Amino acid sequence: MNLDLLCFCHLRWNFVYQRPQHLLSKFSKTYRTFYFEEPEYTNEPDGYTINLNKDHVWIVVPHLQVNQTNSDTTERTREILDSLMEDLNINDSINWYYTPMALAFSSHLKPKLTVYDCMDELSAFKYAPPQLKAMEKQLMERADIVFTGGHSIYEAKKDQHENIHPFPSSIDKAHFGLARHILTEQEDQKNIPHPRFGFFGVIDERFDIELVRGAAEQKPDWQFILIGPVVKIDPQTLPKFPNIHYLGGKDYKDLPQYLAGWDVAIMPFAINESTRYISPTKTPEYLAGGKPVIATGINDVIKPYGVENLVHIVKDSAEFIAAGELELNNNDKKEWQTKVDSFIKNDSWDNTWLQMMQLIDITLKNSQNKLSSNTLKRKPVFDYLIVGAGFAGSVIAERLASQLNKKVLIIDKRDHIAGNAFDFYDKDGILVHKYGPHIFHTNSEDVFNYLGKFTSWRPYEHEVLTNVEGKLVPIPINLNTINQLYDLDLNSDQLEAFFEERAEKKSRIKTSEDVVVSKVGRDLYEKFFRGYTRKMWNLDPSELDASVTARVPTRTDKDNRYFTDTYQAMPAHGYTQMFSKMLSHPNIKIMLNTDYKEIMDMIPYKELIFTGPIDEYFNYCYGKLPYRSLDFKFETLDQANFQSKGTINFPNEHAYTRITEFKFLTGQEHNKTSIVYEFPKDGGDPYYPIPRPENGELYKKYLCLADSMANTYFTGRLATYKYYNMDQVVAQSLTLFKKLSQRGSVQTINEPLVENRIDIERKKMNLGAA
Ligand code: FAD
Ligand code: UDP
Repeated sequence: MNLDLLCFCHLRWNFVYQRPQHLLSKFSKTYRTFYFEEPEYTNEPDGYTINLNKDHVWIVVPHLQVNQTNSDTTERTREILDSLMEDLNINDSINWYYTPMALAFSSHLKPKLTVYDCMDELSAFKYAPPQLKAMEKQLMERADIVFTGGHSIYEAKKDQHENIHPFPSSIDKAHFGLARHILTEQEDQKNIPHPRFGFFGVIDERFDIELVRGAAEQKPDWQFILIGPVVKIDPQTLPKFPNIHYLGGKDYKDLPQYLAGWDVAIMPFAINESTRYISPTKTPEYLAGGKPVIATGINDVIKPYGVENLVHIVKDSAEFIAAGELELNNNDKKEWQTKVDSFIKNDSWDNTWLQMMQLIDITLKNSQNKLSSNTLKRKPVFDYLIVGAGFAGSVIAERLASQLNKKVLIIDKRDHIAGNAFDFYDKDGILVHKYGPHIFHTNSEDVFNYLGKFTSWRPYEHEVLTNVEGKLVPIPINLNTINQLYDLDLNSDQLEAFFEERAEKKSRIKTSEDVVVSKVGRDLYEKFFRGYTRKMWNLDPSELDASVTARVPTRTDKDNRYFTDTYQAMPAHGYTQMFSKMLSHPNIKIMLNTDYKEIMDMIPYKELIFTGPIDEYFNYCYGKLPYRSLDFKFETLDQANFQSKGTINFPNEHAYTRITEFKFLTGQEHNKTSIVYEFPKDGGDPYYPIPRPENGELYKKYLCLADSMANTYFTGRLATYKYYNMDQVVAQSLTLFKKLSQRGSVQTINEPLVENRIDIERKKMNLGAA
């Protein structure tokens, strides 16, 4: 479908180069883009002018004849719009609103998608039309997607739309970065002495002219350069001092040259209703130009720029002068500049545009899906499409089919069910796990009993030895470990004292290093954890969330078991058989070797449950969520046994982290034995979400998107980006099932809510929420 973009804006294109101009000049690469301005009044008959500008945007200016008999300007503007649509053959469009007022003459159109890019709380502005609020409500109802120009305005509007996303103003870094290198001065600025305090932007009721007046009066040697049009306020009310220079509006292309000549950039906004939600683009633009910034306390400037100490926040002229003096005497801006540069590193209009494009694509796709199942007038065969046949997908499929009589299609891009728990008999007839050793353990009776419907169990308590300085000793570290490692004969109390002596006390346990060092000290940490973790994650434990190494406890008794859960057992005939039973229900159809993207648009379904990577679902619109992967090397040896325990860990030598001998796990009798080596790597299949704060933040952005999707649910290790064990994923899907079954009048079944064990563990360890 060839789409055109039709933008309705209350600001003329050539007024100031701002958010609409930055964004539309990028959208014009993909869509034929029209910018429909407010009408001009002329003596000509009603009509419009149209010009293609250098940004490849068609600027349309409707003009209305003065003294016309028909005084209904809305109706006449609608007619002009209709003739534009006809003349230019605009059929399928994205209608993009900056002003809700434009709905008055455009609400009859039937666009493929309606976007509201809400830059400001327009109703708080001077001379705002009284009906603006009501029109905005209508636009919110009509819009398929809403963007906001900042975080404060997002917070204020987020409950008004389900597909709403904050996009604070960004920067044209290359453009404003020029200011760091420009030496030649603009004619009208070159004779103004230093120090210079400069501002560019619109000078209107939002400008704190009193602050500037006060500062200019008290500091007659400081020069104030104000660039920008004066609108909505009377120019006569502006202070006329010899050290305040009003240079008027300038071309966007010349702004870096003015900026280059300033000592300090300023943002004196009045703090009132009209500035409560603004997110000034100037902040990052000034910073990109390498200038220190003094601003008043605008919410979106305080957070993040003020709290990160990148910008001075002042409330009056006295504080302004104090900050100005500080900056004029600051000769070492290197550290501040490095911090600024790293802060604005990923900030660009290109990124904002790309992310918006992705969201538009997803929203268009969703509305087409809805449309196609409506237009086909075919009752969807499936109540649920479930993507991924691992634990997350298979459990929810089984519940929906068996308990709610739902028709389910479960698909997987792999050629088998069971996800990462898949096991099979290798060519010698030994049962092995294709994606590394999977040992089942849980404290949840509900999870254990639930899976017990599909398998009998073989009790198995896993033990692991770790190779430290040539000795094989048990891990988790316990009394046996220390006695064997150091040839000691300590008892539990003595071991307690032994750890106490070595432990480095920490006020807060934040990282994986803290967890271990605060319990057993640095030496044991280096021997057992540091090398293994660096190999496994390609990160130092100090760079990983505490929850990673907290999986492996420290004990003072002689318990050599890797896990202490109440239920420790393996499916007697393997995982794949268990899954096969789970999915063998007449309501469940299985489709393998199928990526969901191949069939999403072809198979009508009512609801979607997605268990693949959440970032993939959203086309990586916020960037990739990082994963750690593994290569597996399988060997079958012509001997009955290979090692003394199920797994041997290699913390400090070899490229692999561990070797597992499957017969321990499965209890299989065979005269040969199969083992697997695990080699950690980047890239490849996404196996391990990487628990770090910044990854958590990125995930939260995807979670926000996920929450705004109707009839779509995300569950499992990849879809919720959590380092979950199998039992936790089962619990998560059972919880989702409970939620789905409790909606509406659907009959509920007696399924207990299973608590999330990781959260319980974190609470126990005082680690706070994940
Ligand atoms: P998965 O099992 O990954 O299933 C997701 C499925 O979605 C996959 O089959 C995938 O092919 C499919 N999919 C993804 N994208 C698409 C798409 N676009 N279209 C169609 N299909 C798609 N847990 C334990 O409790 N004990 C252990 O001992 C243990 N050991 C582990 C060892 C290793 C090496 C690894 C990597 C994990 C281990 N785990 C263990 C964790 C366990 O594997 C997970 O908790 C569990 O498998 C998660 O199930 P899931 O359904 O969420 O994800
Ligand atoms: N770990 C370690 N040394 C070990 C075992 C584990 O440093 O001998 C750390 C390492 O960071 C590992 C984490 O503890 O990734 C969790 O170990 P677990 O055995 O639970 O990992 P998984 O089975 O999930 O790969």
